[in-house]
Amino acid sequence: MGTVVKGYAAHSSDTPLVPFTFNRRDLREDDVEIDILYCGICHTDIHHVRSDWGKEEYPMVPEHEIIGRVTKVGGKVTRFKLGQTVGVGCLVDSCRECFSCNHHQEQYCDNFVPTYASKDRHDGSPTYGGYSEKIIVSQNFVLHIPENLDLASSAPLLCAGITVFSPLRRWNVTSGKKVAVIGLGGLGHMGIKIAKAMGAEVTLFSRSKGKEDDAYALGADNVVISTSESQMRSVRGTFDLIIDTIPYNHDVNPYINALAPDGALVLVGYFGALEPRVETVPLIARGKSLTGSLIGGLAETQEMLDFCGANNVVADIELIDIQEINGAFERLLKSDVKYRFVIDMQSLK
Ligand code: NAP
Ligand code: ZN
Ligand code: ZN
Repeated sequence: MGTVVKGYAAHSSDTPLVPFTFNRRDLREDDVEIDILYCGICHTDIHHVRSDWGKEEYPMVPEHEIIGRVTKVGGKVTRFKLGQTVGVGCLVDSCRECFSCNHHQEQYCDNFVPTYASKDRHDGSPTYGGYSEKIIVSQNFVLHIPENLDLASSAPLLCAGITVFSPLRRWNVTSGKKVAVIGLGGLGHMGIKIAKAMGAEVTLFSRSKGKEDDAYALGADNVVISTSESQMRSVRGTFDLIIDTIPYNHDVNPYINALAPDGALVLVGYFGALEPRVETVPLIARGKSLTGSLIGGLAETQEMLDFCGANNVVADIELIDIQEINGAFERLLKSDVKYRFVIDMQSLK
């Protein structure tokens, strides 16, 4: 049974994504069926498609920055109505009973179910993500989108937005705090915008000369070119919080040096072992922290969306058709996008 839908899938780690037809499950009583309008392209999609983080199962329909409209609801759905604009982020389910689930941190549940490249908890079927016409998700994992926000530019809030919002909240960023973001990409540009909206003084660390004007336009107060030793020296001991979005291994020691005493370097980009080794003296002698963060829970994601609605914060996007997906992956790898690709899913019809 179920519904046949069109989508785009990867069939291996080294072949292009191609059109793919598959089945979405019949609605369960607490499910919402969503017609997908817009869908972002996160760097994580490339990591998964290319098996960067270990062997994956194919076919894979990626994506977890989804904006759509409710087209059907199950018998016990109370939170959503037909026609409402909604969002789906990186999670579509979790065990709903462990410590993390009971503390609104579903992202740290041992049995959470990612939106794609995972298995449904009930029937073991593969989860397929946003590069598709429709998605069916339990109402507990569906989000309300503030009415004043542009729909296409809101899609990246569902992953990039919450991934930077969560550490900014956890470290109580308010006006006067000195915050830095490393890397001006999808996550980084949202980090600048949201930290600025919280009142922080914001610095961008970038390896790329030429992004300075964009960074200031996005709200940064300062830009530090990370390949310049003198510029790095000039910000030693400065920041209360640094969010590191670099997707690949890199030396974190210079960024730890840039923290003020008690400051925290939060890794969100690179999953793996760090080289060169991390020097512990600044951690011990200045009380600095090196830590990480994974997206955010559902309640915090709704809080982030409401915050963005109240402050008119959305992503800077380049809208593309789904047929352009493989070229977009290549351009994203070269940081050639300002600053998030979003797919107009009408192009799939
Ligand atoms: P992105 O748009 O490609 O941005 C990454 C930025 O990092 C680039 O724009 C570039 O900025 C810098 N960069 C890229 N390659 C680099 C390299 N080899 N060395 C140094 N800097 C480099 O990617 P994104 O979508 O923002 O995602 C960033 C990372 O976060 C990915 O690994 C993704 O999987 C991960 N992620 C994690 C979470 C989480 O919950 N923790 C959520 C979403 C994504 P400059 O040119 O300005 O230096
Ligand atoms: Zn993502
Ligand atoms: Zn759980």
